[in-house]
Amino acid sequence: MAQTSEMLRGAKGIGIAHQTIDLMGEHAVVPAAQNYEVWLSYRLGGSPELRALLEERIAKGIPFDEPFNDQLYERFFSNVRLSAQMAATGEKIARELAEVVSALHAAGERTGEYGQTLERAANHLEQGLDEPRLREIILSLATATLDMAEHNRSLNDRLHRSTQDMEALRSTLKHARAEALTDGLTGLANRKMFDETLKRRVAEALDDHSPLCLMLCDIDLFKRFNDTWGHQTGDQIIRFIASTLQKHARTEHLVARYGGEEFAIIMPRTTLSQAKTLAESLRAAIECKKLLRKSTNEDLGCVTISGGIALLRPKETPTSLVDRADVCLYTSKRAGRNRMTLDTDKVAVAAA
Ligand code: GH3
Ligand code: MG
Ligand code: MG
Repeated sequence: MAQTSEMLRGAKGIGIAHQTIDLMGEHAVVPAAQNYEVWLSYRLGGSPELRALLEERIAKGIPFDEPFNDQLYERFFSNVRLSAQMAATGEKIARELAEVVSALHAAGERTGEYGQTLERAANHLEQGLDEPRLREIILSLATATLDMAEHNRSLNDRLHRSTQDMEALRSTLKHARAEALTDGLTGLANRKMFDETLKRRVAEALDDHSPLCLMLCDIDLFKRFNDTWGHQTGDQIIRFIASTLQKHARTEHLVARYGGEEFAIIMPRTTLSQAKTLAESLRAAIECKKLLRKSTNEDLGCVTISGGIALLRPKETPTSLVDRADVCLYTSKRAGRNRMTLDTDKVAVAAA
């Protein structure tokens, strides 16, 4: 980030900003702040992955629509937001700790002084004293003890406040992380969470030789649905599919919004036949649901989904597993949609 600000100093920076806006105009990208961040990063070199995604879309002449732009931002920049938040929270915790340490240090000194007062009094008492002197010592002891008690109370309060502050900071951090990994429209895990989880689950499955299945699915002819009923009603359908997937998945499964109208379920410790049963029940539940437009109660007909399921192979990478599930999904589409294709029956369907 600091490096980016450096590159944008002076007249050169203004030039880069203009070029970025021109680029966005050229590709009909809405000049929103999030999109500007994406395209500025591209103009400044960006990550190879971001460059590849943008250039592929430009080469194919696919428009930069809102869902795609949101996905780009989510994928490449929500992380930056999170790191900034984490750094700020880290600094706050460090400041809090420094204050506690200095309060403890001061308390240590006070305790030392108190000890010395007690010791002095003991010495005097041992020597035998007359009454006025004794009264004087008792008074000084009482004052020192009260002082110490007062100080301990404020130290206690300070520590208590500090514990509460830390607890609040910890929960802020937890929420920031959860938010950065959640899809805003559906509440499902987002693409970043999917990528992180798949990597972890694949490593675990390869390690303990347990079966891991991945299902990808995509709403059928959704463009037509959007064109007929509008984007907002389209969003209602995306939320409906998301909640159906979530309802059918087991607790150890991860259901994610993989892209605009594409979803994924990572199924650890699940055989291909168990995954098939789950996918079929999902497909059937969605196909049967009579959909009503929320705002007007109009009958929206039905929507269907197509899916592809692959079982992790020995030594396979997450990318390869996703690719195979995607090929199966594509096979389902070509075979007429509203169906689930398993990696094992891909060839048979393709040949049919
Ligand atoms: P297919 O059966 O081959 O998948 O056809 P399709 O029309 O679903 O496929 P296509 O990829 O051509 O269109 C996907 C559509 O999904 C286009 C895009 O506008 C829409 N879409 C993607 N994300 C969202 C979203 O968040 N909300 C809404 N309402 N529509 C979205
Ligand atoms: Mg699609
Ligand atoms: Mg589709």
